[in-house]
Amino acid sequence: MPFIEKQQFGEDPLKVRDTDHYVKEYASTLVEKWDQLISWDRRAESEGNFFVEKLKENGAKYVLDAATGTGFHSVQLIEAGFEVTSADGSPEMLAKAFENGKQRGHVLRTICADWRWLNRDVHGEYDAVICLGNSFTHLFNERDRRKTLAEYYAALKHDGVLIIDQRNYDAILDQDGYSSKHTFYYCGDQVAAEPDHVDEGLARFVYKFPDKSQYHLNMFPLRKNYLRQLMQEVGFQQIDTYSDFQETHKVDDQPDFFIHVAHKE
Ligand code: SAM
Repeated sequence: MPFIEKQQFGEDPLKVRDTDHYVKEYASTLVEKWDQLISWDRRAESEGNFFVEKLKENGAKYVLDAATGTGFHSVQLIEAGFEVTSADGSPEMLAKAFENGKQRGHVLRTICADWRWLNRDVHGEYDAVICLGNSFTHLFNERDRRKTLAEYYAALKHDGVLIIDQRNYDAILDQDGYSSKHTFYYCGDQVAAEPDHVDEGLARFVYKFPDKSQYHLNMFPLRKNYLRQLMQEVGFQQIDTYSDFQETHKVDDQPDFFIHVAHKE
């Protein structure tokens, strides 16, 4: 797959509501900026040991990081003693993750795989599959969401767990004048992530960097209970949903993120 240098949204970015488009959004210029956007130190601070603890509670050893991105969770979990396989559908992201891992003394086991056909490329059976950093939101239609959840389900051992996090889109969709009331900081005060356009089928976010450069991501605004229901329908037996109250720049009492822990049995 060729490396894509610049983000491409075409003439009418609001019409881009396509699952396949993520590969064009994570262009190499954005990938370079991504670790600035999600400063690893700040992120470790704000997430704490939440995921490590949840995985340990569930007795996990073999973990598939399905949305590796630039490798933050893969590296964190390797350092916490887990056996991690790092998958992503974007070759740019995986290359950056490998480089980040190497800089910290690790050789990441990377696999380039689109979630919708995950088991074509990923052959192990895992105690846990994680899909973090608001990644599942890149799936734009229900068929892709169901297919992805089914692929995650199949990659798990009989007693495995799936962990997915998501932005609190209910708050964004239901709030009048959201853009003037709430600024969404991702991690840290260097980079602001704000909704640029929101309707029931699209949440387009703009990411503003201190050097005045701007990038966009087009995402599907997943409602919390809708995603819980989908996970149940695909076969997960118990779904625990946690609210993330740790973001530091909150200006109202709504959590910015939800984290779902879905149990196969
Ligand atoms: N988990 C990382 C983090 O927290 O920093 C990365 C998050 S980034 C928002 C979303 C990642 O999901 C990107 O690396 C993107 O390439 C990947 N992705 C999106 N849609 C995908 C798909 N259909 N199949 C595989 N990977 C996908």
